[in-house]
Amino acid sequence: MGNNYSHQLDNILRTVGSVADQNNMETYVIGGYVRDLILKIPSKDMDFVVAGSGIELAEKVGERLRCKREVVVFKNYGTAMLKYRNVELEFVGARKESYNRNSRKPIVENGTIKDDQLRRDFTINALAISLNDKSFGELTDPFDGLKDLRDKIIRTPLDPDITFSDDPLRMMRAIRFACRLNFNIAPDTEKAISRNRERIKIVSMERVIDEINKFMVLDKPSRGWLLMQKTGLLDMVLPQLSKLKGVEIKEGCGHKDNFYHTLQVLDNVASSSDKIWLRWAALFHDIAKPNVKKFINGTWTFHSHEFIGAKMIPSLFKNLKLPLGEPMKYVQKLVGMHHRAIPISNKEITDSAVRRLMYDAGDDLDDLLLLCEADITSKIEEKRIRFLNNYQIVREKIKQLEQKDFLRTWQPPIDGNYIMKVFDLQPCKLVGQIKDCIKNAILDGVIENSFEAAEKLMFEEGKKYGLTAVKQ
Ligand code: ATP
Ligand code: MG
Repeated sequence: MGNNYSHQLDNILRTVGSVADQNNMETYVIGGYVRDLILKIPSKDMDFVVAGSGIELAEKVGERLRCKREVVVFKNYGTAMLKYRNVELEFVGARKESYNRNSRKPIVENGTIKDDQLRRDFTINALAISLNDKSFGELTDPFDGLKDLRDKIIRTPLDPDITFSDDPLRMMRAIRFACRLNFNIAPDTEKAISRNRERIKIVSMERVIDEINKFMVLDKPSRGWLLMQKTGLLDMVLPQLSKLKGVEIKEGCGHKDNFYHTLQVLDNVASSSDKIWLRWAALFHDIAKPNVKKFINGTWTFHSHEFIGAKMIPSLFKNLKLPLGEPMKYVQKLVGMHHRAIPISNKEITDSAVRRLMYDAGDDLDDLLLLCEADITSKIEEKRIRFLNNYQIVREKIKQLEQKDFLRTWQPPIDGNYIMKVFDLQPCKLVGQIKDCIKNAILDGVIENSFEAAEKLMFEEGKKYGLTAVKQ
């Protein structure tokens, strides 16, 4: 019979097969593990389907592997999970599923292996390999999944309109697999995603974002966003990004298409850093451009888009159910500052401008510079090289200044508490003003970075406001 993979199968699979034979249970390894085995991609997790009770087989396998206590049973779902030496084994009884219109939760009844394959999302995820001794290693492939693997195609086993309408999360999974495996989505399947795009609304945003983050970590995350845009899912999930698409022309003058520019910037940062939040910052760096776009004196302007963009970040994060703590603050900061380095890199660089950038960016300075460099997407080679060189100069300058005065962790030598103590003040605006004045004087190089110089200036400033020192 057809393809046999017995020589490539892990020992764990032999053990599961042997336990299944002892208990007279027809058992297969199915889904992602089989797909990745054929594609020669390492994968750790194994899904098993059994004609009978998945929970029973899991418990028997747990006994054999002497890790019965590790078996976690999900009675409601009829599944059981077992962790064995870093591998997650998941067991389910073969089932038939039917759906109702308002929920992704199916009505489940017992079924055959073929029924179980039919409920799978894609042909390449429906491949099963038999584990019973008499047919160990044999592939069961009722929908030509092997051919789709070879042709690099994502296709649903059933009518795609039914597959996607039943569980719309599968539309996101199609895009994620297309990105990760570098496959194309079959034209019929892709069209069905477009037709069913509104159905994504019944999926929780957490699940959608989970899929998005799975393609955001890949080498070329733009592919996922392009597919989202092409199928119309982007309008449902993140319409603000959709709005970046398009070029308007007035008096013969057009601006760049900010959607494709953004995706290029995203891929650029992805090629230089694995940090997921830097990638989100790249995705959002120009998000406010459509809101501030103006045509003035024959040219397009996007004034203040970075500040308005930063202001949009909290509500974007909230809608997308992204974490609202540190990651949000970080993205907000980078979006808000992504134009700060440009004037510095364009003109004669002064120490004080670079110091200010270092102070404001703090620990995120390196990431900010990566974003700024990634933002250079000009097609004119000469221009690109010139801009990149300018950033090189900024980086050199930072290195020099860093050695000079450890500015990244720098705090002014006098803080608000000291000012309040000296002048016997309660917390008030004046304290902040004096503190800022000292900070600015040091950053601008007007006074030296020492306690004595700072204290002297503090007394001078205090005098201006009629303050006298109670402590000397
Ligand atoms: P990954 O490498 O991300 O784990 P996977 O294909 O193993 O990929 P899982 O989410 O682990 O994906 O699911 C295991 C298998 O279960 C899939 O291969 C597929 O057969 C099936 N499956 C998972 N989610 C769905 C779904 N929403 N609809 C239909 N089948 C699904
Ligand atoms: Mg898996």
